[in-house]
Amino acid sequence: MPNSSSTPNNNDKPQLPVISQSELQDLMKKHGQPAFRAKQVIDWRNKGVLNPDAMKNIPGELRHILNAELICEPLRLVRRECSVDGTRKYVFALNRPRFSGKMVESVLIPEQSRGTVCISSQVGCVLDCPFCHTGTQGFEANLTAGEIVAQVLMIKADLHNEPLAGDLHNEVTHIVYMGMGEPLANETGLHDSLIALLSDDGLKLSRRRITVSTSGLVPQINRLGEAFNVNLAISLHSAIDSLRDTLVPINKKHPLKQLRDCLNRYSLGKQRHITLEYVLLKETNDREEDIRALIDFVNPERERVNLIQFNPYPGSPYDGSSKEHMSKFAQQLISKGIRATVRRSRGQDIMAACGQLKAETSKE
Ligand code: SF4
Repeated sequence: MPNSSSTPNNNDKPQLPVISQSELQDLMKKHGQPAFRAKQVIDWRNKGVLNPDAMKNIPGELRHILNAELICEPLRLVRRECSVDGTRKYVFALNRPRFSGKMVESVLIPEQSRGTVCISSQVGCVLDCPFCHTGTQGFEANLTAGEIVAQVLMIKADLHNEPLAGDLHNEVTHIVYMGMGEPLANETGLHDSLIALLSDDGLKLSRRRITVSTSGLVPQINRLGEAFNVNLAISLHSAIDSLRDTLVPINKKHPLKQLRDCLNRYSLGKQRHITLEYVLLKETNDREEDIRALIDFVNPERERVNLIQFNPYPGSPYDGSSKEHMSKFAQQLISKGIRATVRRSRGQDIMAACGQLKAETSKE
């Protein structure tokens, strides 16, 4: 794993969400503060408290130092929407001078036994998959590592301040990089955020609980596997090159053969699988020939297929396959020994479901 570092943002100050304890200790030393203060600040940070004024057991002088030396709150919560199923969608604005007002979205998907946070890695996306609402926004900015990790920390704090009703899990246990943007097109932000999420003085998450989803940037997947070996999900959506060229245009650069070789090399631990995401679009990628191509592509020993219901957004050019057709599609894969699941869509009523995220930057 590369060395830990807190990514500076555009004015080169370290960011509190990703700073390491040893970097904070250096800062304490520089300002004549006792070393134990660094641990106190880290404890607050890991609870999601990023505003030094809310860190109750640290002196006023240190609050002033933190505010002056660090970017403590790289994001600002603009809006939170709650779905009837417990899903929460958060809209955050970037606190950067040049990008002030630009927004990203994150989603908390709670279940009884886990709390998954889906985070964004870019404002908009560098790629333009035609079925994806984010893709229609165009690319606006890469998020810094601090901005990526702040999404997790601020959702953690929100869960603490306002726990979920019923028997839903109230902790963040899993992270998926499946929000806005192509994480592997923001490699620095992704790698530095992973270091912070995995580190002992950060959230200390297991690599088995973090999933990076990519449209298939082959060299970057290789580097991700070598450096972090987290779970991998691929936005496959077709196993036919000519169709995938349209649905996932990065396929023109890294076609299926290259992707296949790369997936075969990705190192997996025991009981781990690569997930192949497949959104079912009516009469587009749900035909007999599509199933046959998918069956040929999948390596059932190492991969499973996650079939996703298409979530329409205003003006989307596709329709989703019917529920019956999705089940039939899944059964055909299962009959060939391929693990296939149909993903239950969450948060659809608040446009928080897969492929529906798009920051409404003009509506702040
Ligand atoms: S599907 Fe992913 S990679 Fe494609 S445009 Fe949407 S966010 Fe970007």
